[in-house]
Amino acid sequence: MKQLGIIGYQLSHSISPEFQQAALDHHKINAEFHRWEIKEDELNSFFETIQDADFVGASVTIPYKEKCVDLVDKVSDSANLIGAVNCIVNTNNQLVGHNTDGSGFIRALKTKHGFNLKKKKVLLIGAGGAAKAISHSLIKENIKEITIANRTVSRGDELAQKLKSITTKVNSIKLERQSLIKPLKDVDLIVNTTSIGMKNSLHPEHSPIPIDLIPNNAIVNDIVYNPIETPLIKAAKMRNASTIGGLDMLVYQGVEAFELWTGRRAPETIMYDAAREALGL
Ligand code: NAP
Repeated sequence: MKQLGIIGYQLSHSISPEFQQAALDHHKINAEFHRWEIKEDELNSFFETIQDADFVGASVTIPYKEKCVDLVDKVSDSANLIGAVNCIVNTNNQLVGHNTDGSGFIRALKTKHGFNLKKKKVLLIGAGGAAKAISHSLIKENIKEITIANRTVSRGDELAQKLKSITTKVNSIKLERQSLIKPLKDVDLIVNTTSIGMKNSLHPEHSPIPIDLIPNNAIVNDIVYNPIETPLIKAAKMRNASTIGGLDMLVYQGVEAFELWTGRRAPETIMYDAAREALGL
């Protein structure tokens, strides 16, 4: 039997095994999708055990996305630019690291929601791992400009600087009311990539941006998926803005991974339904 799985630590809440197994079963692929909970000091030896013909590939999550860049045999150009691997594919006994977070985010926006990114103004809140992946994919979409708003300005500046080697359409501001007023005036897409609003985070009840500044003609995409309706999503609905929740990115990064592992078209609806069921929705 072929073997796949998700590699991470504290994985009990991960729903990837449920929706990936549903996709494998749909295509009648004789494979098992595992939850590989690995301690940091066991990561290197774990990589030795997966160098085997039955190993098809893996998703990678917190806290190993950056570490995996050095543990695979080869890294895709986009994973290399982002500096993180969230998907490993066994290609002729070579482990190849990819990053499907950004491409999955874009695919959900374009194919599930029919959103055209061309010439759009984007406010990206946060400058961590998810923001890096999403921003690298956004700038390939011919957007008009991207403003990065982060609590720690130096991290936002650092990401903006990296992106400036590819595009001039990027700037960095502090995540605070005064600095947000101008970019929010005519923004088309707002993306929250911070953990603000996430269950069990320090600020589960907060919106990362002031509610009264959300324009009603913007699309608000919160990549936090637990809870499904975050304070930002609730606030955006109150302002009559369109909303997209974090489950879409989660499923679509998995859709992209499934297609890399199997070469088959991922059954998107089946994966989405399995993800919702795993969350008890
Ligand atoms: P990360 O690398 O640790 O980055 C965290 C970001 O959140 C940083 O920009 C950080 O700002 C900001 N932040 C954290 N607490 C804050 C606070 N109290 N006030 C203001 N800013 C704060 O994390 P990540 O991997 O990018 O993940 C971020 C979130 O996205 C998590 O909730 C994660 O579950 C979610 N996520 C969802 C998906 C999906 O598929 N839907 C995929 C990946 C991640 P500083 O730089 O100032 O610290």
